[in-house]
Amino acid sequence: MGKRMTVKEKNKELAKQGQQLKSYGLVLRVYPTKEQEGLINRTFGCTRFIFNNYLSTRQEYYKGEAKTLSVGKYKKDFLVPMKSLEEHSFLKEVDKFALEVACENVEDAYIRFFKGQNRYPTFKSKRTAKKSYTTKMTNNNIAVCGLSSIKIPKLGKVSMAKVKSKRNKEIISKIELGQVRILKATISQKSSKYYVSLTLEEIVTLVKPLDIDTVASAKVVGVDLGIKTFATIHDGSKTEFVDKAKYIKESEKKLAQLQRRLSKKQKDSQNFKKAKHKVADLQLHIANQRKDFAHKLSTQLANENQVVILETLNIKGMVKNKKLSKAISDAGWYQFITFLKYKLKWQGKYLVQIDRWYASSKLCSNCNEKHVTLTLNERQWVCSHCGSVHDRDENAAINIRNYGLQILGLEAVA
Ligand SMILES: [Zn+2]
Repeated sequence: MGKRMTVKEKNKELAKQGQQLKSYGLVLRVYPTKEQEGLINRTFGCTRFIFNNYLSTRQEYYKGEAKTLSVGKYKKDFLVPMKSLEEHSFLKEVDKFALEVACENVEDAYIRFFKGQNRYPTFKSKRTAKKSYTTKMTNNNIAVCGLSSIKIPKLGKVSMAKVKSKRNKEIISKIELGQVRILKATISQKSSKYYVSLTLEEIVTLVKPLDIDTVASAKVVGVDLGIKTFATIHDGSKTEFVDKAKYIKESEKKLAQLQRRLSKKQKDSQNFKKAKHKVADLQLHIANQRKDFAHKLSTQLANENQVVILETLNIKGMVKNKKLSKAISDAGWYQFITFLKYKLKWQGKYLVQIDRWYASSKLCSNCNEKHVTLTLNERQWVCSHCGSVHDRDENAAINIRNYGLQILGLEAVA
């Protein structure tokens, strides 16, 4: 078997033929039978068991040998012998690829830790760990069967919820035609619902990055992300204020109401459990609505512009501030930026992220005077230097756009 090529290497090869890889995901709601549900739940348990086992074995091994226990060695010297033991026979019942991925997840956690991206890997507990496992595509063991079901290793055909969106229907037909390849499938349970998330790969025509000198100034926008107004978008002449969708606000109101009711119920009573379930269901629904909203806005921004300028968000740092933390994690900025980034890239367009210390909200966009005493609550203010009247968010969006243009070496058009 040849060495697995990285995406970068594959793209280098593909570029010679004017092509490139496009990776994306597809999430499908599924309805497993009782029997399939049982097996899915046992696989959650087995993958968690293997993750913990490799982690502890690796730690012990390091103490003894002063060497790293590689994934390959763990699989060969520990996993395979363990599976043949009577007491671990449950491991043979579940998808072997899922167990392999569990091992690889430990390795990945270490790699991210050494890169400083993560904390030291910790054991997964039954109570708190996410209910999910991932399996890999090998010899068509994962396949969509029209719009009705999906084939998953060991589970067989699992019924799918009706596929409504045009995008998802298109992707499924492309998978069936062999134009899109399935790389992985993650089976998960959230609240009482089951999902299959596919990681997909498609070969598309190579998109050359836009020549930055040909960028039209009107197609460069500065975007200020906020809590009150989700996004304030300025294109050099006009400003658009995008509020969080009404349907999300309504759901959030309903959630607050349900949470209030929950807090009044006696803990561990039957009514408490019922109410808790309702809250979890609605939280999931809101997460989907936010994702939907992030998709719509990022698609629109990427289609209508050539360069989008944003401030770098230090979400981790900000979330430490308890008062702001809930509002920020609810806002869904991170997801929005992730979507926007790849949607622009697919079209050869640019996302510019500027230094968050650049005082975008405290600088007068007209005369550049800095107003250090400006607080978060002042939505409107007057520049004491030039007399301009500013809307806080609009002024920030203008500044962000100007600063981005400066970085790109383009002329700012006020
Ligand atoms: Zn001013």
